[in-house]
Amino acid sequence: MAEVAEGFTRPAWAEIDLEALGHNVSLLRRLVAPATPWVVVKADAYGHGAVPIARAALSAGAGGLAVAIVEEGLQLRRAGISAPILVLSEPPPEAARAAVLGDLISTVYTDEGRAALSRAATACGRSHGVHVKVDTGMHRVGAEPARVPSLVAAVASSEGLRFEGLWTHLSVAEGCSPDERAFTASQLELFDGLSAQLEEMGLAPRLRHAANSAAAISWPRARYDLVRCGLAAYGELPSRSVEADLARALGPARLRPVLTLRARVTLVRVLEAGARPSYGRRRPLPQRSFVATVPIGYADGVPWRLFDAGGEVLIRGRRRPLAGSVTMDQLIVDCGPEGDVAPGDEVVLLGRQGSEEVTAAEWASKLGTISYEVLCGIGPRVPRFVRASSAAR
Ligand SMILES: *Cc1c(COP(=O)(O)O)cnc(C)c1O
Repeated sequence: MAEVAEGFTRPAWAEIDLEALGHNVSLLRRLVAPATPWVVVKADAYGHGAVPIARAALSAGAGGLAVAIVEEGLQLRRAGISAPILVLSEPPPEAARAAVLGDLISTVYTDEGRAALSRAATACGRSHGVHVKVDTGMHRVGAEPARVPSLVAAVASSEGLRFEGLWTHLSVAEGCSPDERAFTASQLELFDGLSAQLEEMGLAPRLRHAANSAAAISWPRARYDLVRCGLAAYGELPSRSVEADLARALGPARLRPVLTLRARVTLVRVLEAGARPSYGRRRPLPQRSFVATVPIGYADGVPWRLFDAGGEVLIRGRRRPLAGSVTMDQLIVDCGPEGDVAPGDEVVLLGRQGSEEVTAAEWASKLGTISYEVLCGIGPRVPRFVRASSAAR
């Protein structure tokens, strides 16, 4: 009988550097103190792997975790993580019982959502923590500002529920134009007004929060009690202006990218000038060149468009252009006429090699997207190798 290979045979993988994550979380802690960073680990921690990232974030001093949906919170509970976990959207009524039994913290913005959680908590004999979310201008989810006082009063008097927090979400915190800054300021003013109103009603929230990574860095007044950091914890920033604000605040300290995407060259051949590798025969080689095949493709999250966008990979410390379209499982690299490439050479798609570095932000800017989408796009077929943090030993 044929033997079945187990584990990892294709040389394409992502390395997750938990020491870098710990460094980033510590740096954010220093920056936002006395507020506390909660690390956002939705979407499998932006493609990094939710459980190891969550553990490392907590051991670096994160005050809690945030997820998009109940299932993501339960995954962390099943892994034995007992820290506070905030669900960033209101659980649908069908998920109320699971949210209660998982001891997650639910976001609430409708009366139906509040009622379903209260029923589930009462039926389970539990007390369930709730943060009310107000829509101050993002217009995605959240209660209308005028409805917030009555919704909070209803949560506070609901059997089985504890009112613990009030929060909102900013839609252009990474922007630095006067319009964008004015919009963020107006969101924060609305939030402050509601929060004062609740205080007068004797319903002051214990935790107030509004900041994502951009606001945590660029809007000190938005830090309140906690900040919800995703991207910055992973070592990327959402805009140049946020980068500049962080540099001003921290001096020489820098965030470090947590994820590196690597592969190895599987084949090398010499092709004559004018040869057109890959589907569509998109690009003639400008000269006789060594061409390397790398076993990672768009099914793994290396976008098809990266060729048209001028994407480059690193081999032997040098930037090399793609020789043609990215295919589903493999891509082809133009290594030029010198022949300094061999099967087995390490290829860095995202990360550092020698003195060169390709970041998710570089892909994003070339592709007309955002670093978030680049990171979340790295597919489940790519194994994640976690490099442990010294702090977690
Ligand atoms: C995803 C998300 C965040 C994290 O945003 P980053 O820009 O990655 O820091 C914070 N808050 C909410 C509501 C989110 O959905």
